[in-house]
Amino acid sequence: MQQTCGYSEYLGKTNRDLMGGAQSSRALCVASALPHAGAFLPARVLVAASRPPSLVRLSRFVRACSSDIPPSPPSAFRLNLLGCTHDELLALLTEWRQPKFRAKQLREWVYERGETDFGVMANLPLALRAKLAAHVKVGGLQVEQEQLSQDGTVKRLWRLGDGALIESVLMPYDDFRRTACISSQVGCAMGCTFCATGQMGFSRQLTSDEIFEQAARFAIELKSRGERLSNVVFMGMGEPFRNFDAVMDAVRRIRSDLGIGSRHITISTVGLVPEIRKFADLCAEENLSLQLAISLHQSSDAARSAIMPVNRKYDLTQLLEACRYYEARCGRRITFEWALIAGENDSTEEAEALGKLLRGIKCHVNLIPLNPTKGYGGAPSGNAQAFVAQLGWSGIPATVRVRRGIDIDAGCGQLAEEASKEAAKRRLEAKAVGRCGA
Ligand code: SF4
Repeated sequence: MQQTCGYSEYLGKTNRDLMGGAQSSRALCVASALPHAGAFLPARVLVAASRPPSLVRLSRFVRACSSDIPPSPPSAFRLNLLGCTHDELLALLTEWRQPKFRAKQLREWVYERGETDFGVMANLPLALRAKLAAHVKVGGLQVEQEQLSQDGTVKRLWRLGDGALIESVLMPYDDFRRTACISSQVGCAMGCTFCATGQMGFSRQLTSDEIFEQAARFAIELKSRGERLSNVVFMGMGEPFRNFDAVMDAVRRIRSDLGIGSRHITISTVGLVPEIRKFADLCAEENLSLQLAISLHQSSDAARSAIMPVNRKYDLTQLLEACRYYEARCGRRITFEWALIAGENDSTEEAEALGKLLRGIKCHVNLIPLNPTKGYGGAPSGNAQAFVAQLGWSGIPATVRVRRGIDIDAGCGQLAEEASKEAAKRRLEAKAVGRCGA
C-alpha cells in the first residue's frame, strides 16, 4: 500500500524554496524531512514540518535526529550535502555540537578529495561519521542513464526529485581541460528549430541547487581519480538567462565551492537583450570575469528569425547594441556561436556578411559542427576552414570547436527526448494493457 505522509506538495522543492527563497541556514534540513514518510521521523519533527515553511526550524529537526536516533531514512529522503552552503553546513554541525572546523574537514573530504563515503573520513569522530551516514547523502540527482563516447565524453541523464529529466555532459580534452556542460531548465521555451530541447518545450526552472549539483558531481568524481573539473559552460538544456537568479546563484557556488574561476565559466544565451544588459551590470558590479557566449547562427534577421524565434522579439540590431553595452561595461570579449549547417549558413558569402555584422565588436566566433538532431533536417558542413579563413580576412578571429561525443548524441536534449518518448510509450502500453484487462 502506498504510504501518504501529507508532504507530497513539497516534493522536488529545495530548502530555499520551502523557506520562501530565504537563504536562512535554518532551512537546512527541512527539504529532507518533508518528503520523509512519517514512519521515519520522530513525532515532534513532523509537527514542526507541518507548520508553514517559514516557521520550521532546523534545530528541532536536528535535535530530534540527535536524541531519538530514528532509523536511517531511505537515501532519497536524506539531507543533500551538495545542497548546503558552507554556512548551512556549519549550522547543522553546530546543532550536532561539533566544533566549527568539522565543516571544513567534511567539505575537504567531499570537494578536495572527491570522497563520498562518510565511513572512510578518518579525521572525523566515529559517532559523527555514523550520524552523517544515517542522515546525510552526497548528491540528490539520480543517474538515470549514462553514455560514454569513444573520445571519453560522458553524457548523463539525471532524474530530479519530481521525476523530471535533464542532461549534462563532461568533455575531456587532450590539454587536461575537463569541461562540464550543464542545464539550467527542464526543457526550453525558446523553440530553436535545430535543437532537440527546443522541440521538447518548457517544463520548469531548475533550482540553483540542481544546477550546481550537475557540475559538483562531475567535479567530485574527477577529484576521486586525481583530475580536476576546469571549466563549466551553461550550454545544456534551457536558456540560462530565463532562469537568471538561480543560474547566478549556482555560478557563485561553482566559484566558491568548486574553485573554478569566473574566466572558466561561460553563460550562453540565444540573445535575451534585457538580461544581457543585466548580466553586464552584475559582472561589472561584482567584478566577475564570466564569459558571455551568444548563439548567433545567422547574420540576417529574416534567416535568424526562421530558426530562432527569439529574434522576432530582439532583432540583430538590438542584440548587437546589448553586446556593445556588455563590452563597454565589462571590457571582455564575446564569443559568438555559429552552428555550421551545410547549404544554410556555411558559404564564404555568409562568412563575409558575418564579418561585416560583427565589425567593431571585441569578439571571437566559435564554429560548431552541427550535431545531427532527429526532427531537424540540417546536415553538418564541410566548409568550416574556408569560413574561418574568410572571417580572418574581415579581422574576426574564429575557431572550429572540437567535436565531442558525436557517437553518443551529445547535442543537448537528445537523450532526455528519447527517454521521455520511451516513458510515454510505456505509459500508453500500460494503459492499453489496463483497458484489455478491464
Ligand atoms: S538552443 Fe538553447 S535556447 Fe534554443 S531551444 Fe535549445 S536549449 Fe533552448
